[in-house]
Amino acid sequence: AFRMEARGVSKIFGNHTALDAVEFGLLPGEVHALLGENGAGKSTLIKILTGAYQPDGGKILVDGEEVVLNSPLHAQSFGIGAVYQEVNLLPNRSVAENLFLGHQPTRFGLVDRRRMDREARVLLQRYGLGIDPSSELGTHSVAVQQIVAIARAVQLSGKVLILDEPTASLDRDEVQRLFEVVAGLKRDGLAIVFITHFLDQVFALADRVTILRNGKLIDTRRLDELTRTE
Ligand code: ADP
Ligand code: ADP
Repeated sequence: AFRMEARGVSKIFGNHTALDAVEFGLLPGEVHALLGENGAGKSTLIKILTGAYQPDGGKILVDGEEVVLNSPLHAQSFGIGAVYQEVNLLPNRSVAENLFLGHQPTRFGLVDRRRMDREARVLLQRYGLGIDPSSELGTHSVAVQQIVAIARAVQLSGKVLILDEPTASLDRDEVQRLFEVVAGLKRDGLAIVFITHFLDQVFALADRVTILRNGKLIDTRRLDELTRTE
C-alpha cells in the first residue's frame, strides 16, 4: 500500500527555525489532522510535503524510497495534491474547464466541450454536486467551489490530498457537506491531511492527529488512543 513519510524534517528561515526535526506519516484511507496555533509550522510542513518548499534537514519518503519533491507539479507526479484556503481556480471559466483543463490537455479538443461536460457531470455527481458543468465557476458558493477544487486535485493527484483549513469560510451545513466529501475520499483510500483549528472537526473526521508548536512536534497519536476512556 502507498505510504508517505516526513522523517526529521526541518526548515529554517533566516535565523528562525520554522520546523525542527518533525515526523509526519500518511496512510491510505486515513485522515491525519494537523493542529497547532498560528506560526506553529503547519503551512511550512505541508509546503514541504507538496514540493513548494525544500526542507533544510530530514527527508521525505514515498513507499519507503527517499524522494526530492522539486515543485508542486513534481509532487503531483507522485500522487500528491493540495487544496488551499482560498480557492485557487479560475472563477470566469466553466466548472468543467476548472475540473479538467491543464489536465491531460490532449484529452479534450476545444471542440469537444460536450464530452468534457458529460464527463464533468459524472464526476460532479460523485461529489454530490448536481450543478451544470458549463456554468461559470464563480457563480457558485465558496463551498461548491471548494469541492470542485478538491475534485480537481484528486483527479490530478489521486493518492494524497492535503486540505489547508478547508472549512475556514464555510457555514455549518457547508462544513457538513465538505465532511461527507472527505469521508467519501477516505473510503476510496486517499491519504488525507486536514489542517484545522477546531477540535470538534478532529473528533469528527480524523484517524490520527499531530500537534505542532513553535516548529516542534508536540504529539502524534491515533484518535482511538486519544479517546480511550481508561
Ligand atoms: P502555521 O501554518 O502553523 O501558522 P507557518 O508554517 O506559516 O505556521 O509558519 C511557521 C513559522 O515560519 C512562522 O514563524 C512564520 O512566520 C515562518 N515562516 C513561514 N514561511 C516563511 C517564509 N516564507 N519566510 C520567512 N518565514 C516564514
Ligand atoms: P497561514 O495562515 O497558512 O499560517 P500565513 O498567513 O502565516 O499563512 O503566511 C502566509 C504566507 O506567507 C505563507 O506562504 C507563509 O509561508 C509566508 N510567510 C509567513 N511568515 C512569513 C515571514 N515571516 N516572512 C515571509 N513569508 C512568510
